[in-house]
Amino acid sequence: MTRQKGSNPPEKLTVLGATGSIGTNTLDVIRQLGGRDRFEILGLTGAGNVALLAEQARELGVKLAVTADDEKYAELKDALAGSGIAVASGKSGLQEAASLEADWVMAAIAGTPGLEPTLTAARRGANIALANKECLVTGGDVFISTMREGGGTLIPVDSEHSAIFQCLEPHNRDKVERIVLTASGGPFRTWSREQMDGVTAEIARAHPNWSMGLKVSIGSASMFNKALEMIEAKYLFDLEPSQIEVIVHPQSIIHSMVAYTDGSVIAQLGCPDMRTAIAYALTYPGRGTLDVERLDFAKLARLDFEAPDEDRFPSIRLARLALQRGGVQGAVLNAAEETAFHAFVDGKIGFLHMADTVESVMERMNDGRPADTIDAILAADTQARAYAEDVIRQKQKAA
Ligand code: NAD
Ligand code: MG
Repeated sequence: MTRQKGSNPPEKLTVLGATGSIGTNTLDVIRQLGGRDRFEILGLTGAGNVALLAEQARELGVKLAVTADDEKYAELKDALAGSGIAVASGKSGLQEAASLEADWVMAAIAGTPGLEPTLTAARRGANIALANKECLVTGGDVFISTMREGGGTLIPVDSEHSAIFQCLEPHNRDKVERIVLTASGGPFRTWSREQMDGVTAEIARAHPNWSMGLKVSIGSASMFNKALEMIEAKYLFDLEPSQIEVIVHPQSIIHSMVAYTDGSVIAQLGCPDMRTAIAYALTYPGRGTLDVERLDFAKLARLDFEAPDEDRFPSIRLARLALQRGGVQGAVLNAAEETAFHAFVDGKIGFLHMADTVESVMERMNDGRPADTIDAILAADTQARAYAEDVIRQKQKAA
């Protein structure tokens, strides 16, 4: 993949999901790489945290600030009064932000709400820095073909996929045997199922290495984040399910690897800091200079690896199933997992019930439905959420 449109580095940027974990890190990278002197930031979007969004919008002098929450429109409008910055809200506001003529768009909205605005930016040919893995997990084929038609470049931001992107030799694509996605194993890597049974969201969100949003942190503890990343990798790099391996690597120093047909394996390493992957996406195919911690190999001393335990972490097995079945099963896995995640955080179901819920819904919707249009994907998403709610209600009754 080469940058086909826009300048290098891009000058006009939009950040979808600017107030989140990836979003705030993106703004830090933008500041470090020159801020307003080097870039024109056209649009920023957020949701509930309007005060932060307004502060970011003023600092960067953006054209448009959007809150996804219609009820926050007046608050955002007040906060930006007199600044000359346009304000919008809701789904139409997100579409407006995605439609601005930015040549680089960071897609960092959390979850399925990120799909449609990111598709809009892809359709008009923007280069997309993709943090929102749900775009590919739910709508893989549609998203990739939209990117292709739009003509922009898709640059992964998820640290594992950024690593693979960096390790792939464009001239040796046909010599890739497999990719190896590393996983930290999360806070319960060494715990038994019995120990995991009673944990709360507070315990589950404490990640050993990375500082991330709540959804990704819980997903790391259940390894559902890795499950989503396996599906994300299939679409990003056009791989067969058998070419996608997961290895637990507790130090999170190797961010992922590519194994070639001659036995050579290329890895990308770094301290666990999302800003490195974000900066790579912003400066690709070049590199920027970033003030992040450097790797000290002598201090590090060792790197450990172990196979993931699919009994304790069924999410990995479920991802393989979704990969083999294809069609809407990725969208189903994602929607059921998102629903089960909310139920877990709200204390309605236990930690281990998340995987049970996803598996029940995947089985119920295993009817070979294709994921060839956005409507088909969104219909499967809605149905999977309703089925997951059914399973959750039954579990609550049984408890
Ligand atoms: P987050 O929850 O910290 O931030 C999410 C952003 O989306 C916020 O700006 C929020 O205002 C916005 N948002 C929330 N609900 C919305 C809605 N309904 N409509 C529009 N916007 C909404 O999440 P995050 O951890 O920054 O993750 C963002 C994406 O990046 C996710 O898809 C995640 O899987 C992916 N990702 C995150 C990390 C990480 O380190 N945090 C790493 C890799 C990939
Ligand atoms: Mg990741």
